[in-house]
Amino acid sequence: METRKVWLVTGASKGLGLTLIKKLLQENYCVVATTRSAKSLIEEIGNASGVFLPIEVNLTDNSEVKAAVEKSMAHFGKIDVVVNNAGYGQIGTLEELSDEEARTNFDVNVFGSLNVIRNVMPYLRKQKSGTIFNISSVGGLFGGFSGFGIYCATKFAVAGFTEALAEEVKAFGVSATVVYPGYFRTDFLANGSVKIPNLAIEEYEDARQSETAHLNSINGNQPNDPEKAADVLIAISKEDTPPVHLVLGSDAYDMAKNKADLLNKDIEQWKSYTLSTGF
Ligand code: NAD
Repeated sequence: METRKVWLVTGASKGLGLTLIKKLLQENYCVVATTRSAKSLIEEIGNASGVFLPIEVNLTDNSEVKAAVEKSMAHFGKIDVVVNNAGYGQIGTLEELSDEEARTNFDVNVFGSLNVIRNVMPYLRKQKSGTIFNISSVGGLFGGFSGFGIYCATKFAVAGFTEALAEEVKAFGVSATVVYPGYFRTDFLANGSVKIPNLAIEEYEDARQSETAHLNSINGNQPNDPEKAADVLIAISKEDTPPVHLVLGSDAYDMAKNKADLLNKDIEQWKSYTLSTGF
């Protein structure tokens, strides 16, 4: 009899992560759920059990992540699917955001995921199987949003290292997929998740308007359903060959196609310069 697959999901206390782990438990998977505060997760789902392991961990601390992965292995004996989901949006133009604001967003969205990958890979490599989903954003594919440069940069980084990871781990029977969601109706744009710049510069009118629109009119009216994103991740995890790139949502589809067109246009329009640099 096939044993239940074990999923490790980061950022499981709300939003997409919480939706996903609830669905996984309903569908009889085993779940390791990481969070900064186990209390709310335990209130929501229940205490640790034979199928559920909540772990409080600071993802930006490699030794805490290592200990969490060891605890997961001791509890379930394996990890089959990893979802690097934890992350937040730092709004603010490049001039507005301090070094600390920018680096903190990278610490969570980029280095947190790298800590997880570094510590799960020895086990996935040994067991010669595994599926890794790294949650980027459509902002990790197209960065032309005023006031979202740092967030987009973190998500471009996720896309870049996932493409490399997919190449590095395929020989071990492990797949890596970068997921580019469009707007999903979660807490992402709500108070307590998204961060606004400490020192806003009013002259950045477009960025301010975009910030207001995101916090007010877009928040709560996002076109995509996190339940359906969770269904897609579960379905893709069953594919023999999961894709390297997975775009989620019709808004993300349109933006991804637009980016591909813009890139092709620039490549073709400036081709004579491009091809002029060889010896
Ligand atoms: P959310 O705010 O509802 O949930 C984010 C999760 O990440 C929470 O569990 C939160 O606790 C965790 N998290 C945030 N900051 C953290 C930190 N410093 N350390 C550890 N964990 C932290 O938002 P969501 O929509 O569920 O976001 C999930 C992922 O999807 C994020 O990586 C986000 O960037 C990405 N994403 C979301 C959207 C969207 O529209 N909702 C679009 C594109 C990408």
